[in-house]
Amino acid sequence: MTNYASVVFDLGIDRRFDYRVPPGLEEAVRPGVRVVVPFRSQRLSGFVVALERREGYPGAKEIISVRDREPVVSEPLLKLAEWIASYYFCPLSSAIRCMIPTALRRGHRVKMPIFVHPVPERLADLSAIGALKARAPKGARLIDLLRVHNGPMPLQELLRRGGASRTSVAALEKRGFVELRRQRVYRDPWEGEEIEFEEHLAPTPEQAGALDHARGDLKEGRFSVMLLHGVTGSGKTEVYLQAIDEALSLGKGAIMLVPEISLTPQTVERFKARFPDSIAVLHSHLSDGERLDEWERLKNGKARVVVGARSAVFAPVHNLGIIIVDEEHERTYKQEEAPRYHARDVAVVRGRIEHAMVILGSATPSVESYRNAERGRYRIVHLTRRIEGRAMPSVAIVDMLRETRQTGRITYLSRALLRAMEECLGRGEQVILFLNRRGFAPLLLCRRCGFVQRCPNCSISLTVHEEGSRLLCHLCGHVEKPLVRCPKCGSPGIRFPGIGTQKLEQMVVKLFPEYKVARMDSDSMTAKDAHRETLARFRDGEVRILIGTQMIAKGLHFPNVTLVGVVCADTALHLSDFRASEQTFQLLTQVAGRAGRGDVPGEVIVQSFTPTHPALLAAQRHDYDLFYAREIPFREELGYPPVKRFIALTVRGRRGEAVRWVAGHLEKLLRGSAPRDIHVLGPVPSPISRAKGYYRWQLILKGPRVREMNELLRATLGAMKLGRDVQIVVDVDPMSML
Ligand code: ADP
Ligand code: ZN
Ligand code: ZN
Repeated sequence: MTNYASVVFDLGIDRRFDYRVPPGLEEAVRPGVRVVVPFRSQRLSGFVVALERREGYPGAKEIISVRDREPVVSEPLLKLAEWIASYYFCPLSSAIRCMIPTALRRGHRVKMPIFVHPVPERLADLSAIGALKARAPKGARLIDLLRVHNGPMPLQELLRRGGASRTSVAALEKRGFVELRRQRVYRDPWEGEEIEFEEHLAPTPEQAGALDHARGDLKEGRFSVMLLHGVTGSGKTEVYLQAIDEALSLGKGAIMLVPEISLTPQTVERFKARFPDSIAVLHSHLSDGERLDEWERLKNGKARVVVGARSAVFAPVHNLGIIIVDEEHERTYKQEEAPRYHARDVAVVRGRIEHAMVILGSATPSVESYRNAERGRYRIVHLTRRIEGRAMPSVAIVDMLRETRQTGRITYLSRALLRAMEECLGRGEQVILFLNRRGFAPLLLCRRCGFVQRCPNCSISLTVHEEGSRLLCHLCGHVEKPLVRCPKCGSPGIRFPGIGTQKLEQMVVKLFPEYKVARMDSDSMTAKDAHRETLARFRDGEVRILIGTQMIAKGLHFPNVTLVGVVCADTALHLSDFRASEQTFQLLTQVAGRAGRGDVPGEVIVQSFTPTHPALLAAQRHDYDLFYAREIPFREELGYPPVKRFIALTVRGRRGEAVRWVAGHLEKLLRGSAPRDIHVLGPVPSPISRAKGYYRWQLILKGPRVREMNELLRATLGAMKLGRDVQIVVDVDPMSML
């Protein structure tokens, strides 16, 4: 019998290779470590996923060396990777890739500077110190510095501050006053920031109820999922904080997921203030080195709680007790590139594997989660009241069609909204204007013949930026100068109809010259600290009107904001997506939640061309149940998720004919072997039929369970021979159908 290791490579192939473990490496080769092995004619780094003892076979190659002393991926995480690979239809190596920081994958060398550690017993020996002072005053001075510093000091720093050379330190070491040790330094994540420690608040009865459930499950180490449905401002975050504290006091760790967009300094500070010593933060603005630092602090147990966006669901937290997913309905939890996992669903599976409890929190739960709660799979807990009985903001809907008719012109800011702005600003309060479309205007249009300037690589129109000096494709980033004359009819009547945040900003500055205006969207927020600065200026009250995209819809808390204007509530409703209503309801509720968080009640004005849309009316009444009660029959009738499940297949390639042929062929194969309850829809051109130069056709598998659809797909794709020029992208539980 011989030991074999199953090894996967990060090459995008879905295969495991067996290597013999040589006798000298039997201790070191474990699941979760990386090894160097011969592969074809090269040496390659691979990842050990399993070990097996069995009959040897001739010709098996041997592992050359082991790269890690400790597994980089723990056993439960390996299990999770296996689940991801099978559920989301991706190679195991891609799932594992999510769990290893880039810097580590690239073999980033960790710096280990030398530290000088004082030896306390020797420093207490007064006669020895006296002798040192007489014989080696320089050395004595170094000792003084170390005393004042009260702990180990980096050698370089000590030499610099003491004006000494290496030999003086060597002498001290020889006499036993100090010891030299190399050690890993971690960047101080909050360097230069002052954090004031905060005590927990006394929970309200509703919060206490939620916490009781959490405590019970945490103590028992029981896997459970709680859907915490709480209106905005009802104190969900306080529940999260105290549940995490409970986990810590039981010696367990915690993962706190928030959408990237609401991973604002404000949010992070709330967590730091409660757990100043045990928190790690993971977000997309960290450099690879900084990420590795945070990852290692978790891995070696220095940090016990991680706050982060989607990928933090894979953080190497020890003895995981709780995973919290805030704003669980957010689409950004779904990764839109391979592996196309949904962090909320991964959180639930990880919770089950590690016997941890999971809290999914939202003011507007996803229809998926609410249905799971309804069917008893999740425990639902409601927080129905805002803290301190603050009123929910009043929501008024303005019919923009009528507004246009009455004023006789196209307006973007209705009279009602303008009046409310004047009043609010006049009272010394602040306004947020929300518009979910960045840029100056959504298109460039010829007034005479209707020509629209489109992206040469994609089947969408170009967005006008910077007052019309630049055109930009929001899909592929293609940039063009706008035309001054129409290429079709030669007319100079080029216009930029419609409105984006840049045009809105320009209008508001003109209308309210006496107030400072700031804009927050991904164009204005490219500089590293722009986000933080703008928010600080708004919080200080210097900026009175804040304009922004969904970036400002979440997680922000400004007591002086009493008016929120939704400039166009219809942007999502026009999408050909079955989740359009849900998204609109969610967005409006979130945005409205920004109003009236202080003592003054808030007001929300929603402008819409479809003012009687059920999603708007439900949001106006702050009534999730009303929304859900109208939405679920619609999904049932059409067999949409979560009633049935979807797998979206996108066939894409540079040659339209080939793409179309493959899509048709795939359809035939799938239909040929699909069991009765799995439906094959399509193929049709994708809603965006050409993107980044690729033609795209779409098929949808619809069925009661994902597992059987996956089996069908595995068998079918396995039997298909694809050329290099056409690819099939598999998206399980797709969030976007574009
Ligand atoms: P949510 O996350 O549900 O939107 P938050 O947790 O942000 O709500 O709470 C809203 C406000 O109420 C915050 O200012 C918070 O500090 C405060 N708050 C939360 N819980 C309590 C409590 N038990 N007692 C007093 N204030 C609270
Ligand atoms: Zn024209
Ligand atoms: Zn494009």
